[in-house]
Amino acid sequence: MPEQLSLQTLVEPVRQSRQVPWRRLLGYLRPHRWRMIVAVLGLAVSSAATLVFPLFVGQTIADVLEQGSYATLNRFALLMVGLFLAMALGAFVQGYALGVAGERIVYDLRTSLYERLVTLSLDFYDRHRVGELLSRLSNDVTLVRNLLTTSLTSTLSSAISLVGSVAIVFTLNPSLTLFILLLMPALIAVAVLFGRPLERLSARVQDELADATVTAEEGLSGVRIVKSFGREGYEAERYRRSLGRALSSAVRLTAARAGFGSLMLFLGFGAIAAILWYGGRQVIAGRMTVAMITSFIIYGILIASGLGGLAGLYGELRSALGAVRRVFEILDTRPTVAEAPDAVPLPPVRGHIAFEDVSFGYDPAAGPVLRHISLEIRPGEVVALVGPSGAGKSTLCSLIPRFYDPDQGRVCVDGYDLRRVTLESLRRQVGLVPQETLLFGGTVRENIRYGRLDASDEEIVAAARAAYAHDFILALPQGYDTVVGERGMKLSGGQRQRIAIARALLKDPAILLLDEATSSLDNESERYVQAALERLMAGRTTVIIAHRLSTIQAAHRVVVMDHGRIVEVGTHAELLARDGLYAKLYLMQFAEDGARPARQVVDVWPDGDWAAGRPERPWDQ
Ligand code: ADP
Repeated sequence: MPEQLSLQTLVEPVRQSRQVPWRRLLGYLRPHRWRMIVAVLGLAVSSAATLVFPLFVGQTIADVLEQGSYATLNRFALLMVGLFLAMALGAFVQGYALGVAGERIVYDLRTSLYERLVTLSLDFYDRHRVGELLSRLSNDVTLVRNLLTTSLTSTLSSAISLVGSVAIVFTLNPSLTLFILLLMPALIAVAVLFGRPLERLSARVQDELADATVTAEEGLSGVRIVKSFGREGYEAERYRRSLGRALSSAVRLTAARAGFGSLMLFLGFGAIAAILWYGGRQVIAGRMTVAMITSFIIYGILIASGLGGLAGLYGELRSALGAVRRVFEILDTRPTVAEAPDAVPLPPVRGHIAFEDVSFGYDPAAGPVLRHISLEIRPGEVVALVGPSGAGKSTLCSLIPRFYDPDQGRVCVDGYDLRRVTLESLRRQVGLVPQETLLFGGTVRENIRYGRLDASDEEIVAAARAAYAHDFILALPQGYDTVVGERGMKLSGGQRQRIAIARALLKDPAILLLDEATSSLDNESERYVQAALERLMAGRTTVIIAHRLSTIQAAHRVVVMDHGRIVEVGTHAELLARDGLYAKLYLMQFAEDGARPARQVVDVWPDGDWAAGRPERPWDQ
């Protein structure tokens, strides 16, 4: 189904005006045109039955009053049941076809939105919160669906009964119709008056709902932090306040809608009063029969409810416009890190990396985060990045898989400018082992297979063995089929890291980016992780954001960064001898460790035995 909605057909730029992007919106109906046609046919049947009904009633009254015949009455009653049956059938067909089309449109919209969201570059995620995007996926899409299905056909049915009734009344009694039409200017005035505020308020409700979702998402995804600080009440209050803002806007929106709807209804029922007054005079004057005025009054009711319906839908349309724009806005966002049209696949690389006078900033207003970085990394070399936090180490790493493009200069792998190669061929050859590994909901096997989707079970086991993960995996309740992630088994930090390493081994990239975990693991876990990492690094160009002295000592070169610049490059011994920033960082770490026991003895270990309880510090070894 989503294939039918190719992105090109849907991505037509949204004009920034208040115009409704109808063509594009209706494009979503195209794949469901048969369902929509069936729905409209059902609607035509039920509307026709509705329109004939008042004539019928008039006729019944006239005939029965005139003839006083039971047989006639019975026939009319039966015919009327038939009429209602047609009406009900029509309504069923319409409701069913429409409902299915609606659900499918939601499906199409959500899948194309999600497809767009996952392809967007990271800078988009720097600007948008996940909660906000989830709200777009659920709340906004639902509004668009309603607009395209129920609103559209209800408009049609209201319009049919309105126009039909007016037309019938007109053929039967033109002067009466002209009298009713006097109401038109008032109707238009009310619609114009309410349109703008309805649209504005609805946009605000949707935005505030998105804010509230962001608040909830933060609180729930950080539930451990929330609990550790005992901030459950605080978070509940934050959400309450956030949702409260959406509530008060929603209340105002409802008031505006209700006011609008009832004014329209009042004007509509004004039509009934007009018919009664004008028609009554004609009856008194003997120009119209009671039966006729009865049908006219029923037509009056149809006109009134048609108007009320149209008004409500007009309100809904104005409300849904904001949602429509936001959904289209996301669909129209292009990844900033895009493939050049003439991008070539990066052939299998040896792993030579070159930063050539690279400068980069996330936000032009905040200034550059990397300044004039020039660095060449040889194939198979292990480079440790060190420096104070915020120096730009992670940022530098994130340019290698081209998560971002440099503002100035270029990054090359094996002499290929990254901007000239396809993203897939580049990222296939760059492996990433983050500090904290995210396991997706699924089995251990599926999580390892994430590294290479076509890997066989044997290859998965081999990778797990190489990552020293096989034994602990076998000890899990269902071995490789144990479900982990959000709803599954919780694995320890060291176990998660080894799964991440197995994933990377399976992927077998020429270039490896490692963000060393800062938190220390227990000794045994640590040893396994280190051994697994050594296997992983063998024969690959490796860039490590290093926190452990052992790693730094083992690296071929240490690159020291500060304030977005490379300030020193050399081996651990060379840099110590140079007595620069690296030496200072190194000494500071020791000084800190030396000072801490004296400061913290009283607070943390009242028995004074700090050293005995002290966790392993990476720099102490
Ligand atoms: P390091 O890894 O050395 O600690 P980072 O590369 O993470 O440093 O950060 C360098 C600077 O860039 C910091 O000032 C940080 O605030 C900023 N920064 C990092 N990531 C982002 C981001 N996604 N959006 C905006 N600024 C960021």
